[in-house]
Amino acid sequence: MLLRHTTADVVEREGLTINPVKTCQPVGAMYAALGIHGCLPHSHGSQGCCAYHRSALTRHYKEPVMAGTSSFTEGASVFGGQANLLQAVNNIFTIYDPEIIAVHSTCLSETIGDDLNQILIKAQEDGKVPEGKSVISAPTPSYVGSHITGFSAMVEAMVKYLSINSGKSNGKVNLIPGWVEPCDMRQIKSIAKRMGVENILFPDTSDVLDAPLIGKHQMYPDGGVTKEELVSAGDSIFTIAMGSFASEQAAKLLNKKCNVDYEVLDIPVGIKATDRFIMKLSQTAGVEVPSDFKSERGRLVDVITDQEQYLHGKRVAIFGDPDQLIPLTEFLLDLNMEPVYVVSGTPGKYFEKRIKELFEQYGIDGKVKNGPQADMFLLHQWIKEQGVDLLIGNTYGKYIARDEDLPFLRYGFPIYDRVGHSYFTTLGYEGGLRIVEKILGLFHDRQDRDAPEERFELVM
Ligand code: SF4
Repeated sequence: MLLRHTTADVVEREGLTINPVKTCQPVGAMYAALGIHGCLPHSHGSQGCCAYHRSALTRHYKEPVMAGTSSFTEGASVFGGQANLLQAVNNIFTIYDPEIIAVHSTCLSETIGDDLNQILIKAQEDGKVPEGKSVISAPTPSYVGSHITGFSAMVEAMVKYLSINSGKSNGKVNLIPGWVEPCDMRQIKSIAKRMGVENILFPDTSDVLDAPLIGKHQMYPDGGVTKEELVSAGDSIFTIAMGSFASEQAAKLLNKKCNVDYEVLDIPVGIKATDRFIMKLSQTAGVEVPSDFKSERGRLVDVITDQEQYLHGKRVAIFGDPDQLIPLTEFLLDLNMEPVYVVSGTPGKYFEKRIKELFEQYGIDGKVKNGPQADMFLLHQWIKEQGVDLLIGNTYGKYIARDEDLPFLRYGFPIYDRVGHSYFTTLGYEGGLRIVEKILGLFHDRQDRDAPEERFELVM
């Protein structure tokens, strides 16, 4: 295998990242843009960048992802990409007729200094944006941040360009879900609906990147937050931003621009984060928590209690996106497992601080790192130093899992070699049960594989 020469000798590195736990900013900006109804994302850079961003999303979601590109060649790289973008805006509205174009920059267009905002103002002035249509933009150079910061920048752009405080409350709660699967977006809406909380979820990729096959091509699938809803987000009573890395910036700007109060919560992964989300919804909208949530929670606790002996004390290595890893680590700790190695490629001080707090609270002697040198090579070295019982992370973890003969739970982005992640939620109590079921399935399979004949159990 490719990684078989990894050693346990951890050397301090500064200039080299090996197998990063992240991808580039525009991938996140494109994913967020797809969560607006009738939106065509546009990549301001070379065709190669756009092809990569689209293929990363297509391979994960198994859906065609469409996007425009400014098609930079040598000329644009030297003289700037303004002419290309103006032409692109004109072509896209004329040929593909979206409601909105969401433009993000790339390494190249940022390096040559293109000012997206100024170019798009010129597009408006030149009459290239038809009446009633919109163009928004986000800066997403990939030599900083990650796909998560790119996602955050595009969600912030939705607020910056569209949300307005009309002075009349719409009585709704804004829900900013962060980078989660389309089924997770649906789950968040479903929880709010079951509680009777009117909401605006943005972005919303449900029914866009898990759209049903209906026998005819729909350029713009039925899902996505509408432009009208994004405008109205400025009239909402409160904003719940899920995950500080992907959602806080938009909530902060909405507060500054439209005076909508907000709170940042964890993405509702596991019992405690779901409890906090449901209680906040209840408190914000002044509604009771329906009793079926209590039953759902109770069923999850029952399964955990029944199977506790398979979970207790198991050492886990996890890698992925920070907003997901924080509540997942907390959930694993609640399962009496030991998430000892936690790695995220997205930079930001809050991550290490929060994970260390959790280690301390639950008495775990663990290691955590994020940022550029927090890569899968380091995670592999830690696993070499002292083994784990389970690895959790995206598809790229399969190489480590194979080399170290580890049970491997695919979780996060990207997952290229399995299906189900976009359809079966891991959020809420229902999603918690799915995580537990998957972990237990891995442990049970491993036990079956390794058990000598006299200990091969029928009932586990
Ligand atoms: S050049 Fe930059 S924006 Fe383009 S694919 Fe590479 S990292 Fe992403």
